[in-house]
Amino acid sequence: MLENRFPNIKVIESGVKQLKSKEHCILTGDGSQHVYKKLCLCAGAKPKLICEGNPYVLGIRDTDSAQEFQKQLTKAKRIMIIGNGGIALELVYEIEGCEVIWAIKDKAIGNTFFDAGAAEFLTSKLIAEKPEAKIAHKRTRYTTEGRKKERQTKGSAGNMGSALGPDWHEGLNLKGTKEFSRKIHIETMCEVKKIYLQEEFRISRKKSLPFPRDHHNQPVTTDKEVWPVYVELTSEKIYGCDFIVSATGVTPNIEPFLCGNNFDLGEDGGLKVDDHMHTSLSDIYAAGDICTASWQPSPVWQQMRLWTQARQMGWYAAKCMAAAALGQSTDMDFSFELFAHVTKFFNYKVVLLGKYNAQGLGSDHELMLRCTKGQEYVKVVMQNGRMMGAVLIGETDLEETFENLILNQMDLSSYGEDLLDPNIDLEDYFD
Ligand SMILES: Cc1cc2nc3c(=O)[nH]c(=O)nc-3n(C[C@H](O)[C@H](O)[C@H](O)COP(=O)(O)OP(=O)(O)OC[C@H]3O[C@@H](n4cnc5c(N)ncnc54)[C@H](O)[C@@H]3O)c2cc1C
Repeated sequence: MLENRFPNIKVIESGVKQLKSKEHCILTGDGSQHVYKKLCLCAGAKPKLICEGNPYVLGIRDTDSAQEFQKQLTKAKRIMIIGNGGIALELVYEIEGCEVIWAIKDKAIGNTFFDAGAAEFLTSKLIAEKPEAKIAHKRTRYTTEGRKKERQTKGSAGNMGSALGPDWHEGLNLKGTKEFSRKIHIETMCEVKKIYLQEEFRISRKKSLPFPRDHHNQPVTTDKEVWPVYVELTSEKIYGCDFIVSATGVTPNIEPFLCGNNFDLGEDGGLKVDDHMHTSLSDIYAAGDICTASWQPSPVWQQMRLWTQARQMGWYAAKCMAAAALGQSTDMDFSFELFAHVTKFFNYKVVLLGKYNAQGLGSDHELMLRCTKGQEYVKVVMQNGRMMGAVLIGETDLEETFENLILNQMDLSSYGEDLLDPNIDLEDYFD
């Protein structure tokens, strides 16, 4: 389709096996060699699994792994979810008919996105029965045609397809074997110490705990079920389950490009890129999950491996490559001026702006809060009278006003707490 629409594009359906940066060429799985003038690496990231090669430990990244997860779930009575990021958050909320034990290493849920206050606001939703209608999507949605046919194409290099991104569980029936709606137990401040297969566990003579029925006075009994796999947590608690979902983040997928090439790498293992998305090797650019933004960022932007940033980086890298080829200069794209992410957690609209968790602001910042239980949670991060970030949960209608206030760094000291007064129409006031 792309080739038809754009005659200057040629699509090669084969995974890259090797990059020879000095010779300016790549070798693909089908045995061909392709010479380039400029190259952009966009090979994404891989799930960071808590343990490799265990058939009971699943990661979710692409269509295939999501379908495998769904298949396993239809036969499951209990699963464990390890991790505290976006995928874990969505899973615990969406899964029905299956007991879920959710182990997180932090004190509160969702710490990639929220502080403890917002986590508490959201946790009440988890305990409640599933709510009414789902909130509507107010953005463009991308789907693929003929999903089944697309599986295991030659282009996947034998391992991985594209990351699923927003709406990934849409159309997947996330239901276990039981008839109840949601049953979640959260184990905080712990990590996985050891995973036992059934036989190993039997020999160990250790005892596993049953699913905690009640958060208060739970009886310490043992679990009578025999499970295919058991997880021992650093808190010494052991739970058996049908399988484990490892949702513990991603690592940039750089291996295919490393051999013989001396890339500068970021601390998170990504290819370092400068403010023109250029890596440390000549004529090689990178964008999306594979790269680590290594320029001096705007004070209210940070990199997060998100679909929106991958798209913005890809678009900007293309512009930089074209400009370099023509010997022209390019300015930094404005999408990197302010961090902005809109998503949905637990059926609430969630907007994150700027330094929404006061990342890197030191201790001289203040937080302002407005919260109506079950309805909205608004948190604003202020420093020297300027708005630096915000977390907006629910239909607050504040995102555009706050986006502008963060961008223009207006001195808001004189407004004090009125800034969050629900009786003041901020949008109108700052218009
Ligand atoms: C389950 C899930 C849910 C998510 N939800 C959200 C969300 O709600 N919001 C959000 O903003 N982000 C979300 N993300 C993150 C988002 O999907 C990623 O940040 C984004 O897709 C990264 O884009 P990318 O182009 O860098 O990498 P990818 O989308 O992973 O694409 C990489 C491509 O490179 C190909 N490739 C890999 N190796 C090779 C090779 N050797 N040769 C040739 N091709 C290769 C792969 O097949 C793939 O097509 C989610 C991710 C997952 C896994």
